[in-house]
Amino acid sequence: LGSKTVPFKCFGKVREMETQEGIFQKTLIDFHGIDEELIQKMVYDALVWCSLHGLVVGDKSVQRSGKVPGVGLVHAPFALLPMAFPESHWNLACEVAPIFNELIDRVSLDGKFLQEALSRTKKVDAFTSGLLDIHSKMLEINKKEEIRLGLHRSDYMLDEKTKLLLQIELNTISSSFAGLSCRVSELHRSLLNYYGEHIGLDPRRIPGNASVDKFAEALAKACTEYNRPRALVMVVVQPEERNMYDQHWLCAELKDRHNVTTIRKTLAEIDEEGEILPDGTLLVGGKEISVVYFRAGYAPTDYPSEAEWRARLLMEQSSAVKCPSISYQLAGTKKIQQELAKPNMLERFLDNKEDIAKLRKCFAGLWSLEDSDIIKKAIERPDLFVMKPQREGGGNNIYNDDVRTNLVRLQKEGTQEDAAYILMQRIFPAVSLTFLVREGICHKDHAVSELGVYGAYLRNKEKVIVNEQCGYLVRTKVSSSNEGGVAAGFAVLDSIYLN
Ligand code: ADP
Ligand code: MG
Ligand code: MG
Repeated sequence: LGSKTVPFKCFGKVREMETQEGIFQKTLIDFHGIDEELIQKMVYDALVWCSLHGLVVGDKSVQRSGKVPGVGLVHAPFALLPMAFPESHWNLACEVAPIFNELIDRVSLDGKFLQEALSRTKKVDAFTSGLLDIHSKMLEINKKEEIRLGLHRSDYMLDEKTKLLLQIELNTISSSFAGLSCRVSELHRSLLNYYGEHIGLDPRRIPGNASVDKFAEALAKACTEYNRPRALVMVVVQPEERNMYDQHWLCAELKDRHNVTTIRKTLAEIDEEGEILPDGTLLVGGKEISVVYFRAGYAPTDYPSEAEWRARLLMEQSSAVKCPSISYQLAGTKKIQQELAKPNMLERFLDNKEDIAKLRKCFAGLWSLEDSDIIKKAIERPDLFVMKPQREGGGNNIYNDDVRTNLVRLQKEGTQEDAAYILMQRIFPAVSLTFLVREGICHKDHAVSELGVYGAYLRNKEKVIVNEQCGYLVRTKVSSSNEGGVAAGFAVLDSIYLN
């Protein structure tokens, strides 16, 4: 934990700050003067809390921890105290959640738009091409998804210079950590209930986080719409999953509160055991499936052979509710995010002008690599851009000098490979000192945070059954690291402290 520091003072310091919403008072959570003994006590209590309340992941040093539940558990990496966050930006992120839900739904219905926008990418990206092939097969047979369920997470960073809350991306498949993130808010509240007075922080300023309840409720309601009492929810999983407890929280909630049974299957198992009856019913291992909930299938490595693609196609052809459908997944790609940021594109899909303005306010600069002016700028100042392929799950983006190297290479080669990427304005969030706890050890470091807001959308034909914000996730990472994956080992789970 570094050298002993001076006895702690009160940490809730107030500073005026200008934002897009005007001037407001920002509470800085200032750890410079914090008492080391107090920190050690809090870390100890937090570690106990995680163990008792299931804020856990599989321990990668234990071989079977990704396969067998109950074997090799370790606390999920977490920030000891919540991140200070302006209330106005929090409100904005909550307000846009249902609008983004609706946008994704509208975009998903425009099959031609999805195919065209991704047509250049399709030629150079085998994974996106695989998804588009299934999508075009569904267009050919005029497949209609009457019950549509989206469990999304829209991620943001607060740009320090402009004070704008800018969207990093919107995840439409496998939006993870709904199960654990609400636990982190509880952990922080519990620590502040006990220690808050000593450090000048009020537990009531941590917003309520019902992520897992809301996601479970939306899944349960999708089952109700599907209306086959004995049918199961199938969670599509990777063969090994260290983040399984996040998923199990959701399944437990489904069972305990909604009496819905789940089964876990890999894509390879679905290929072996799956079949479709003439009426469209999906059976897996002889059991009827009402909702297919994907926690795999978002990365090329999830499809090591034709079998996995066959399974994906089979599920798409069935009448089961897919969360997400192939068109929802495509609507969440980075290329579509970039297309939607073009002038007049939101107007194509949404009617309400105020809604459109709210979404646009969250858009960072996004460009296709066909834009030669921006390529020139990015070669000059690569540090101001992020180059992104059509991938999910973290660790795929290109930063700094590698942006220049890759852009120069692509220009020289003159192939179509540029269509695999988009360019995005790099966002620079405020850096603050944070206590990050990983494998029982607390490190103090400079860190930045990313806020994710969950959203659920469920409709049956013309009837919108659910469209709401569903809690949040904060991931905090050491500021020297470019990417912020928790599962990938770069980041810790966190929550927010409103000010
Ligand atoms: P993925 O779908 O793989 O999660 P993201 O677009 O979320 O892809 O990028 C992964 C991580 O990279 C983000 O969590 C964030 O830490 C960082 N990142 C992405 N875009 C930007 C950006 N425009 N500016 C700064 N950091 C970014
Ligand atoms: Mg993503
Ligand atoms: Mg992301």
